[in-house]
Amino acid sequence: MIIVMSQEATKPQIDHVIETIKELGYTPHPIHGEQRTVIGAIGDERGKFRLESLANLVAVESVMPILSPYKLVGRELQGEPTIVPVGDLTVGGNEFMLIAGPCSVESREQILTVAAAVKKSGAQYLRGGAFKPRSSPYAFQGMEEEGLKLLKEASELTGLKIVTEVITPTDVLLVAKYADVLQVGARNMSNFALLKDLGKISKPIILKRGMAATVNDLLMAAEYIVSEGNPNVILCERGIRTFETATRNTLDLSAVPLIKDRSNLPIIVDPSHGCGIKKLIAPLSNAAVACGADGLMIEVHPQPEVAFSDGAQSLLPKEFDVMMKDIRKYLKLAGKHL
Ligand code: PEP
Ligand code: MN
Repeated sequence: MIIVMSQEATKPQIDHVIETIKELGYTPHPIHGEQRTVIGAIGDERGKFRLESLANLVAVESVMPILSPYKLVGRELQGEPTIVPVGDLTVGGNEFMLIAGPCSVESREQILTVAAAVKKSGAQYLRGGAFKPRSSPYAFQGMEEEGLKLLKEASELTGLKIVTEVITPTDVLLVAKYADVLQVGARNMSNFALLKDLGKISKPIILKRGMAATVNDLLMAAEYIVSEGNPNVILCERGIRTFETATRNTLDLSAVPLIKDRSNLPIIVDPSHGCGIKKLIAPLSNAAVACGADGLMIEVHPQPEVAFSDGAQSLLPKEFDVMMKDIRKYLKLAGKHL
């Protein structure tokens, strides 16, 4: 339910409504707008009619149901875009997030080389999986904590912020110790135990769309994280499975403006996994910026031919550098700042 306070509502009156929401067994989410405060009362759908009595409290103007199934990440309660803080940077609004790096952390030399290169080309974030969710149990599974330490070293040397994946609830605190942003991969989008645990930390989360997930499924997965108390969620379109086999996945760019319309969360695009073909990454990145994406995630490897994972779709540092020149032009047109 959305509880709309009157414009004249005082702080004690607002606090009283918040307390009453808690007493009724719901979680209050106050949003203090320029004109007035609105309070979301979120919780068990059953029995929500009890919240209607809030309309009788002093300074409450109206009580209305939130119609969409995603309450906190939708636009009904919070119309303004969520701005996610990442240390001294932010994501969302006019601030663009450029993430680049290898699929997996493979060695000290590999990650330090690529970090220096992508930094020079203008990335602010270094990616690299230390825990890899591979489709085959026999494929490289990642360097685990050693990989996290290498990412940290690369970050200290370059100033790049770290984006890396967490695949089990057990590792959340370990990964959070090293990462600036924790990534939930496509294969884990519906791992609700993991999502709930990520809702209990405050570090930003990149939530990738599952390969067979609808936009609605993605937003509901985000709702799991936000409803546990972590509002710092960045969505990521990374392609879905369709009947098309000419590309690795079908990058659903229509999801970007659609999500902008339905959700207050920022959304970035990963064209590397989205199409799996090097040549397509630059044009798809330009298109992503043109349709309103808040960031890009690009796989870059110093020697793609010997990469442990996703070599075929990884750009060479010099290819990434060329691509970045075009991206800057599109960012300027879109009014986004890198
Ligand atoms: C990745 O980013 O390396 C990755 C595994 O991506 P996805 O979860 O989108 O497949
Ligand atoms: Mn990859």
